[in-house]
Amino acid sequence: MTDFQNLAAAVLAGNPAASDDALAVLRADDAELMDVVAAVGRLRRRYFRNTVKVNYLVNLKSGMCQENCNYCSQALGSEAPILKYSWLSPEETLEQAGAGIRAGASRVCLVASGRGPSRRDVDRVAETVGELRRNHPDVEVCACLGLLQDGQAQRLADAGVDAYNHNINTAESHHDAIVQTHTYADRVDTVRKAAGAGMSPCSGLIAGLGETDEQLVEALFALKELGSDSIPVNFLMPFEGTPMAGTWELTPARCLKILATARLVCPDREIRIAGGREMHLRSLQAAALHLANSIFLGDYLTSEGEQAQADLRMITDNGFVVQGSADELAQRAHVVETGPTIRQRGAGTGVLPNA
Ligand code: SF4
Repeated sequence: MTDFQNLAAAVLAGNPAASDDALAVLRADDAELMDVVAAVGRLRRRYFRNTVKVNYLVNLKSGMCQENCNYCSQALGSEAPILKYSWLSPEETLEQAGAGIRAGASRVCLVASGRGPSRRDVDRVAETVGELRRNHPDVEVCACLGLLQDGQAQRLADAGVDAYNHNINTAESHHDAIVQTHTYADRVDTVRKAAGAGMSPCSGLIAGLGETDEQLVEALFALKELGSDSIPVNFLMPFEGTPMAGTWELTPARCLKILATARLVCPDREIRIAGGREMHLRSLQAAALHLANSIFLGDYLTSEGEQAQADLRMITDNGFVVQGSADELAQRAHVVETGPTIRQRGAGTGVLPNA
């Protein structure tokens, strides 16, 4: 057995990975890449079998943010030529979300740029969510509106928002190098407020921001501690017109190892391949599905993604099924139908044991 297999076996046996284990996976030799995928992929299969959760983003409000996150095309000072618009109408939001749901998304993520929502913004989103839930009762709704003030998380939860996304983005020790208009503690506070209101906390990171290996591992353990149920792993998209333009620190193999490290540290959490998937993983996207169990379908907030049909084909071509799809439900039913076989031999019976 390889060291990676031993490591995966230990985690499967209930011994959580330590920082050194995470660093060993992150720093694996490229020649060992498929050994890493084979080993850590066992954790993915344990908790998520062969399912892939499909999420769909709707950018409710784009650009014109007053915060200075240096990786973000919507930030103060960004000259990236992105779409800029104020709040979508509820009708347009429903139309956009409906397209993603028809394509197979089981979670819709409603995102708005800005430091955080006003009371009116929260009311607006709550109203839209109510309508979305009436039309699509089985679809999860996640909101991502920035830093929350007291009471706003509860208002969103009461409106039917299932999850709230607010990424920590990077390690606490690297945070102030990438943004100065809010603190790491501000971000953690919002994740805690969301969880406290009963919403599922969704918080992740961006790799390729100049962080060290140790800082990447630090961020993953922080997300585990924070209780993030779903962990979007973004790979920096260095937009022209932002301070990070021209920053290319990632290779496809490195991205795969980052996803493997995330899975090792947080084996039972949803690991979502997020922004930068196509650009950075390139031909390793299918291999990445053996580590992550969730992707975004279609376009990102300010950049275009892969054709949705090509992504869906990649999922099925590689033996995975979309969570909540007819194929997945049929597989689930099969598991229930076959169920465990009740023992009728060995101890307590007159029949020879299975030995
Ligand atoms: S707060 Fe959000 S929208 Fe604003 S610059 Fe930061 S990441 Fe971009």
